[in-house]
Amino acid sequence: MFIGHYGLGYVVKKKAPELPLWLLFASVQLLDLVAFTFVLFGIEKASYNPSDNPFFRNQLDLPFSHSLLGAIIISLIVFIIFWIKDKKRWAWILGLCVLSHWFIDLIVHINDLPILFGKYKVGLGLWNFPYLTYAIEILFVLIGWLLVRKRNVFSYVLLFLMIASFSGMIFSDEPEIMKHNDYLRTSVVLISNGLFILLAYLSDRKLKNE
Ligand SMILES: [Zn+2]
Repeated sequence: MFIGHYGLGYVVKKKAPELPLWLLFASVQLLDLVAFTFVLFGIEKASYNPSDNPFFRNQLDLPFSHSLLGAIIISLIVFIIFWIKDKKRWAWILGLCVLSHWFIDLIVHINDLPILFGKYKVGLGLWNFPYLTYAIEILFVLIGWLLVRKRNVFSYVLLFLMIASFSGMIFSDEPEIMKHNDYLRTSVVLISNGLFILLAYLSDRKLKNE
């Protein structure tokens, strides 16, 4: 799943408003952020794969960031960091947000999510129905966004950019220059996710100062 994870970030923000939205966003998407970073360092792989189905355009080999065991370890690291800082409620919430990513990905991925570092790959395959997946992701983000009532200019820009970039990805093929360059295409996704988190941070800050 791509932007759909952020929908959960919004839902948790509604239930636990004391947590900053940017931190929730970074948590629900942390496994992807780790994956993109690992791809840049050559530890994992995400290459372009020609397909009519936009969700199959990524040939993924993510044995660490997207294995169930890897997800549990990364969630535990986040849990421990906040537990030590004596933010026990945050530790539980953020740790579970990180772990949620794997289970949400499980619904959409097609047999490329390993259980144990590269072994026993699973995926329920919602990506076989690209328009349904697209609609669910958009709906999830929209519902989450609508739930969090306090808004400002950054919230609107954030929603627009998430939907626009995701729609661009679904309804158009990648530029030729990106198809052959894993580093470039990974950097673009990493930067766009970084931008979403930055906008969430700016929105949090503006609301705090109001
Ligand atoms: Zn993922």
